[in-house]
Amino acid sequence: MTAGLRDARRADYERNKLHKRLLRLTGQAIGDYRMIGEGDRVMVCLSGGKDSYALLDLLLTLRERAPVDFEIIAVNLDQKQPGFPADVLPRYLDGIGVPYRIETQDTYSIVTRVIEPGRTMCSLCSRLRRGILYRLADELGATRIALGHHRDDILETFLLNLFHGGKLKSMPPKLVSDDGRHMVVRPLAYVEERDLEAYAQWRQFPIIPCNLCGSQPNLQRQEMKKMLRDWERRHPGRVDNAFAALSRVVPTHLMDRGLFDFGALETGETPPGEPELGFDPDPALRAVAPDTVTTPIPIRPIRREQP
Ligand code: SF4
Repeated sequence: MTAGLRDARRADYERNKLHKRLLRLTGQAIGDYRMIGEGDRVMVCLSGGKDSYALLDLLLTLRERAPVDFEIIAVNLDQKQPGFPADVLPRYLDGIGVPYRIETQDTYSIVTRVIEPGRTMCSLCSRLRRGILYRLADELGATRIALGHHRDDILETFLLNLFHGGKLKSMPPKLVSDDGRHMVVRPLAYVEERDLEAYAQWRQFPIIPCNLCGSQPNLQRQEMKKMLRDWERRHPGRVDNAFAALSRVVPTHLMDRGLFDFGALETGETPPGEPELGFDPDPALRAVAPDTVTTPIPIRPIRREQP
C-alpha cells in the first residue's frame, strides 16, 4: 500500500470516528434531557455558522434512526447585515431537500442606531433575534426550537456568570421561554467545539462569516474561551471535569438557602445528599490510623424540665 493510500484510509477512519462520536453525543443529550419526542416539529435555527450547520446535519441523520417520528424545519434570520450572502442558505437547503423559512428583519439598523459605535452589539442583537424566533415558532407551529450551542458555549457562559455575574448559572440544554410557550433545546450540549470545527471542514458547509455586522467581539467571552483552551492544553481532564460538575450539583454543600433549607437542618436524622466524611469517623481511616479517629460521642436527647 502506498503512503498516500495509507494516509487517505487513516483520514477516512478518523472522519468516521468523529461522525459516530457526534451522533452518539447528540443522541445522548437528546435522550438524557428528553429534548425531542413523538410528533414534535423541530425548528432548527441556522445562522450560517459551523455549529448550526452541524446541528441540522446531525439531526437529519438521527431522525432516520430515531424510534420516534419528528419533523424538521430550518429557519434563518436575515438581519440585513451588510454583505450577508442571502443566496447561500436557500441554495444549501434546497440542495439537501429540507423545508425552510428565511425571515428578513432589519435588526442590524436597530442595533447600529441604539449601540454606540465601537461597542459590542451582541446582547441587544440576540434579544431581538430571540423575539423574532419565538414569533416564527408560533407561525410555523414548531414545538421545539433547536439551537446550535455546544459544550464550550455552556462552559464559557458558566464561567462568565461565575466571574462577572456572581451566579452559578449557565445555558441549560432545555429551557422553557419566560412566557411558558416555547421550548428551546440544545442538542449539541455534550459536543466539543473542536469536533464541530473538524466536522464543518470535512462536510464543507458553506459557512457565512459571523463578523459581517462589524460588532466588537465580546471580550469577556473571548477571555473565557482562551482560558478553557489553555486549561485543555496544560491540564488535560480539567475542562471535562468542570463540564461534568455542571450536572453533579450538591445543594447541601453550597450556600443557597433557596435551594436547601439550612434553617431546618437538625441532628438526629441522616442528612440529604452526598455523605460528608469531613467530620465523621471514616472506617477506612480507622483501619490504617486508629489513633487519629475519635469515637463519636453519642448524642442523647436533651431532657427538659417540666414547667
Ligand atoms: S456578532 Fe453581530 S450578528 Fe452576531 S450576535 Fe453579535 S451583533 Fe448580532
